[in-house]
Amino acid sequence: MSHHCNNLMIKCMDFRLQGKTLEWLQENGYFGDCDVISNAGSAKVLADGSPDAKEFILNEIGLSCEKHGVKNIIIIHHSDCGAYTTHDLKTPEEEKAKQLKDMEIEKSLIKERFPEVTIIKVWAQMKDLDGKEVDFQIVQ
Ligand SMILES: [Zn+2]
Repeated sequence: MSHHCNNLMIKCMDFRLQGKTLEWLQENGYFGDCDVISNAGSAKVLADGSPDAKEFILNEIGLSCEKHGVKNIIIIHHSDCGAYTTHDLKTPEEEKAKQLKDMEIEKSLIKERFPEVTIIKVWAQMKDLDGKEVDFQIVQ
């Protein structure tokens, strides 16, 4: 293993979160020590994607573990996520509850395949719809 980093972040592709996510990484010592997987809805595909889609993400995670030796996987989901508009979720609270449930499923699947990693689940609450203010919270 010629290169090493401690963390892998799985986040949503949504551009509105880019600036604040970068700040959060820097504030928490992850910046420069973090592989990144960026998809619509973060790791959502593990909760409800096709077997092929799930396998694709698990393979990406596997490469990060194998090639870079990551120890922590940070899964960030966020409010007002476009990937969740296809669900019949009527309120922001319903959307958050659904996403927290999906994050738990994602965590289980990742732990099943990679039992040695620590999963850190993060909820990013957007205070406005253009991402100028975002509150990041680690969820249990
Ligand atoms: Zn999103």
